[in-house]
Amino acid sequence: MQAPRRPGFPARLDGLQPPRAAVPAPAAKPGVLRPAAAPRGMGLDSAAVRARMVQRLAAAGIDSTAVLQALGAVERHRFVDSALANQAYEDTSLPIGLAQTISKPSVVARMVQLLLGADIAREQGLGRVLEIGTGCGYQAAVLARVAREVYSMERLRALHEKARDNLRPLRLANVHLLLGDGMLGYPAGAPYAGIIAAAGGEALPPAWSEQLAVGGRLVAPMAGADGRQALLVVDRTLHGLKQTVLEGVHFVPLKSGIA
Ligand code: SAH
Repeated sequence: MQAPRRPGFPARLDGLQPPRAAVPAPAAKPGVLRPAAAPRGMGLDSAAVRARMVQRLAAAGIDSTAVLQALGAVERHRFVDSALANQAYEDTSLPIGLAQTISKPSVVARMVQLLLGADIAREQGLGRVLEIGTGCGYQAAVLARVAREVYSMERLRALHEKARDNLRPLRLANVHLLLGDGMLGYPAGAPYAGIIAAAGGEALPPAWSEQLAVGGRLVAPMAGADGRQALLVVDRTLHGLKQTVLEGVHFVPLKSGIA
């Protein structure tokens, strides 16, 4: 058994810092136009906007410091089209192309917090996690800050590549992006302390529960008998699988095969 170890969080609450004090602008010379105050739009003050988002998440009941730090640190606006960047810190899902969406921050926070509640994660910190549905890579970046290793699968090549481009500048050595059908899981990385799906199916793919470690937890949107999607939590215990159905959610459909 591994010694308990905390994943490497940044020591600072990056996203929770007040915005850096503005550098006083040099006096404009007559006839010389100063550049606009925020040449990269959102970039310069995104930490403050993110800190407000984190405050709202905390007020809405997210109480894991690790989760709040992770959402405070990951620049969500860099994962969406620049035309949508000004909406990146609102609690809304946004299109990422190919009819797919990046989940709402509150749903990402809720699901990641649930993963951290796995028995094994409470004992040893969150070890290996399998994410199904990389999409633009945002949630993978959040997971990278709370888990030791992240294996993230995407079935659409164009999104897999987009996520790679989005994540490259972050240099997250513990994130592994895989092009493949997540319904089959990724046996090479198993067993997982956590499995998290960003697409909703009708039934639990058998590979997921097979690849879950004892003490591990799966969090996934799943359609119930009434056809409505709800968050499903499955804990693997020494005595078998324990399922809990939580609140209703709206996720894109889980599909098989790659495209
Ligand atoms: N976590 C993502 C959300 C992406 S939306 C983010 O932060 O952006 C869900 C994604 O699941 C879509 O990109 C969709 O293509 C993908 N998906 C659906 N079924 C899948 C499957 N069987 N295997 C892998 N990815 C799948």
